[in-house]
Formats: sequence, structure tokens, C-alpha cells
Amino acid sequence: MPEIRIEKPKTVAIVGVGGTGCTVASLLARSHIKLILIDRDIVEESNLDRQILYDMNNVGKPKVFVAKERLEQFSDIEARYEDLNRTTIDFLGVDLVIDCTDNNATRYLINDYCKKYKLPWIYTGAISILGAIAMILPESCCFRCFSDEKQGETCLEAGVMNAAVTLVGSIAAAKAMQFLVNGNTQSDLIRINVANNEVMHITVNKRSDCPCCRGVYEYLEGDRARSIVKVCDKGKYLMTLNKPINTLELAQRLKKYVTVQANEHAAHFGDMIVFSHGAVLVTAKNESEAKKKMDFIGI
Ligand SMILES: [Zn+2]
Repeated sequence: MPEIRIEKPKTVAIVGVGGTGCTVASLLARSHIKLILIDRDIVEESNLDRQILYDMNNVGKPKVFVAKERLEQFSDIEARYEDLNRTTIDFLGVDLVIDCTDNNATRYLINDYCKKYKLPWIYTGAISILGAIAMILPESCCFRCFSDEKQGETCLEAGVMNAAVTLVGSIAAAKAMQFLVNGNTQSDLIRINVANNEVMHITVNKRSDCPCCRGVYEYLEGDRARSIVKVCDKGKYLMTLNKPINTLELAQRLKKYVTVQANEHAAHFGDMIVFSHGAVLVTAKNESEAKKKMDFIGI
């Protein structure tokens, strides 16, 4: 079996340590690659079918801290418990970025940043029995060249098969290791279907009207940089406040009105989760209902 050897220490940033991110982080850490793990979320029981670094003992804890604890025996791991947005994004000193998020708004932000600062990145996505992986190099076409900006917000409505998630993660980790060892000369897109074992290699080309490829970074610097986004989770919106929140104090203040579960990392109020790093996840029919719910808790 050929051994992949990485001569110089390399650093990979993994955005999102959910289903795909757990697999990618686990494989790369065990290959002794230095990792920066970025995730805003806490472990929930509903994650455990596919997020293989976590178990029942971890419910309620930030995913990045649990992942770091599990993987630091293999490699150097930095854990960032934060929402990745245009004010927090910073991949200084990173050799490769891997997107393991569940929403296109964050992918477009990563896309803008990596194009602007000439960083290679890998896109991953999984929905139902389907998966997608793309290597995106700074000089080649970008994610906006081949993605549909109207799609990508329905994954949990369709559900996702755990085998699809781990397969996507494995392919992304293989691509990452090959890139770190050999470099890579072209961008590519792979689509997989785990129900019929179909693998499609799709040639992707620069779109002549792509704003990002023309140096217009709408998601990083322009009017598409938003403080509220719909995430790939049934009817949920994520709002960013850009200030830390004392979740225990908040829980104390609101417990006379609603049932609250809280620790120093997050507070649950019905269908709302407030994170101590300053983001709020809320179930709502639309943006204005999401904002009204935010007003209710007064932060
Ligand atoms: Zn482009």
C-alpha cells in the first residue's frame, strides 16, 4: 500500500465539524496534519447518527471542543468556537481550507475570501443519498461559476444518509492529502450517488459573468454580506450579533417566561439556541418572524 508522506508541516482549516467535518478532521488528524476547526454549533442528540466524533456524553458541548479533545492525541488541533462570517473569517497561515458547512451563504464567503487571498479550498456537500466534492484552486473557476445560488437550502427536508456524509468526507480527505503532497493542477467537481454507486466527474469552467472571478467579492465585502442567513436545517435562520453573550445570565433573566436549558456555551429557549460566541439559531417561517423572535429575548 503506498504511503503518503507530507514533508513540511501543513495546516488545514476545516469549516464545520458536523457529519462531513467529523470524517475529514478524523482522517487528516490521524495523518498528522495540523488542523484549525471552526464551528458555531453544540452537539445535539439528533447529530449522533452521522457525526462520528460525538456520543451521548457530549450533548450540549461545543463540537469543536469535543473534536479537539478526541483528535489532539494525533495532531496539533486549534478549536475556534465561532460563527464564520465576514468579521471572523481569517485563514492566515493556512495551506488549504475545507468547507464542511451546510449552507451556501458560508460557502460563498469562503469562495470570496479564498479567491481574494489566493488560497485553495475544497467544497463538500451532502443531501439525501447524493454527495458533491470540488477542488477549487485560486487561478481556476470558482464555486459561484458552477453552483446555483437559488439552491442548497433544503438538505434536512430531504434528510441525509450517514454513509453519504462519511463517503463525501473520505473523498475530500483524500483530495486534501493528495493536494498537500503533490500539489494539484486543476479544479474539478465530483458528484456521487450512494444508492447506485454512480460517480460523475464534471468538468467545470470559469463563467464569464462570475462576479467573484472578476474580483468583485459580494459576500466578503459587498451587499451580500448578511447578518441573517437561512441555514440548511428545516426552517432555521442564523443571526450574527458580533458580540459575545453571557448565556447563563440570559437564561437567568428569561427563565420566568420560558423553559430554558443553558450552560456557559449555549442557551436553548424552545425553538431558539443562543450561542455564547454571539450567534442565534431560530426556527421561523421567514426572516421577519426570525427577527421578531430575536426581539422577544432582547439581546
Ligand atoms: Zn467564478
